[in-house]
Amino acid sequence: MNAPFKNLIAGEWTGSQNASRNINPSNTNEVVGEYAQATVEDANNAVAAAKAAFPAWSRTTPQERYEILKKASDEILARKEELGRLLSREEGKTLAEGIGEAGRAGQIFAFFAGECLRLNGESIPSVRPGVGVEVTREPVGIVGMITPWNFPIAIPAWKIAPALAYGNCVVIKPADLVPGSAWALVDIIQRAGLPKGVLNLVMGRGSVVGQALLEHKDVHAISFTGSVSTGRKVAAACIASNPMKKVQLEMGGKNPLVVLDDADLKVAVEAAVQGAFFSTGQRCTASSRLIVQAGIHDRFVEACIERLKGLSIDDALKAGTHIGPVVDQSQLDQDLKYIQIARDEGGKLAWGGELLNRETPGFYLQPALFTETSNAMRISREEVFGPVANVIRVKDYDEALALANDTDFGLSAGICTTSLKHATHFKRNSEAGMVMVNLATAGVDYHVPFGGRKGSSYGPREQGAYAREFYTTVKTAYTLA
Ligand code: NAD
Repeated sequence: MNAPFKNLIAGEWTGSQNASRNINPSNTNEVVGEYAQATVEDANNAVAAAKAAFPAWSRTTPQERYEILKKASDEILARKEELGRLLSREEGKTLAEGIGEAGRAGQIFAFFAGECLRLNGESIPSVRPGVGVEVTREPVGIVGMITPWNFPIAIPAWKIAPALAYGNCVVIKPADLVPGSAWALVDIIQRAGLPKGVLNLVMGRGSVVGQALLEHKDVHAISFTGSVSTGRKVAAACIASNPMKKVQLEMGGKNPLVVLDDADLKVAVEAAVQGAFFSTGQRCTASSRLIVQAGIHDRFVEACIERLKGLSIDDALKAGTHIGPVVDQSQLDQDLKYIQIARDEGGKLAWGGELLNRETPGFYLQPALFTETSNAMRISREEVFGPVANVIRVKDYDEALALANDTDFGLSAGICTTSLKHATHFKRNSEAGMVMVNLATAGVDYHVPFGGRKGSSYGPREQGAYAREFYTTVKTAYTLA
């Protein structure tokens, strides 16, 4: 089968013997498109193309790179409704969320277009007479990228844009479940005037195409976003390869949202429901652990249930849908498995958790809210990655902070309170990479660093000007005048 949507290797759209069907989770009868599946040979050819393109691309002027990234940004923003629709069809988040994500990809390209012009170095006096020291940044080289299915356009954008801005060449392997948005993004960037081979797209299985990138000696760096278990394999392969590869991992979360007795109830409920259940709970930053002080606990749970009752779970493209379907059968099976585990552990299913029938066959799941849970239960410790959250009752702020930090993860953490003292203390003492006060744990700006601690992240931060730490390497030059 020669799929209509091909891989991009050395500036050419090339076919493959194998293709995969991209299925709409809101309507499993609908095929979004057929996408080529790359082979190991395709991945190797893509790396060779990137290697051939690197000497010239890495020496382009900031102005040349600025113009390409700016042009790409303009097209993404002009087409964000159409791109958002494609994203919602393949991933299942609502149309508003899909358009929002596509717009974000456009803004990211605009930001990094500006970063092309802002890259600077340092001139430092030497400790030796007559000697000058310069510290400059150079591109890392060939960057392999491996991305997950839950942000099909934003994550490829926030990796590709800084890589190109700082003069690197790229081979990207998007998630096999949702290749459509990444394909459309690469098509736009390529047409914005990129020389052949600077950006290559190889779609397909992680164990085949991803593995080939990890093993290739000419790939200098790997930027990975996905699960902890895959992340560990990626890191191990990068260290084992000769030469070793620079590596950046963004992985899972079990993000706490603390609600104190003095919280504004409306603000807390909105932060909890938005953070835990919107985008179908399929966000690494989802507020999946709700740690609630005893005095507000019952009012909070009741108000959350009222809010959940008013949400429409339906086809992602339908007007009025608040929450779309789960991405596919295997993720749905995982969500249902954890709902059962939470029940077996003694949690009380306070709302939801039922499979829903809609006009079209899809993976529709009612958001599930558990109460009477403890932080020791599996539902509190393991990432579900679906519309499932649990409430843990605590007596005071100190216990809330201790439980918030008692996790293997450390991506995002939030607190709802009107106390400046507690908000300030939480910001300082939370063991997460991102901290939110009176906001959901999910939902971040595109121009500031993104990333976590402990099992959630490894290596330099992504996004904002901090992205240069990964996508550049520092050179220290000494001159005797
Ligand atoms: P996953 O780990 O299953 O897959 C991620 C990517 O790795 C995919 O492209 C996959 O094909 C590839 N892959 C799988 N096995 C591989 C191998 N052996 N070698 C090389 N590549 C391989 O994750 P997923 O299910 O696509 O995404 C969900 C996970 O991503 C969740 O854990 C979520 O928390 C995490 N995530 C994290 C962030 C973040 O920034 N921290 C953002 C979004 C998603």
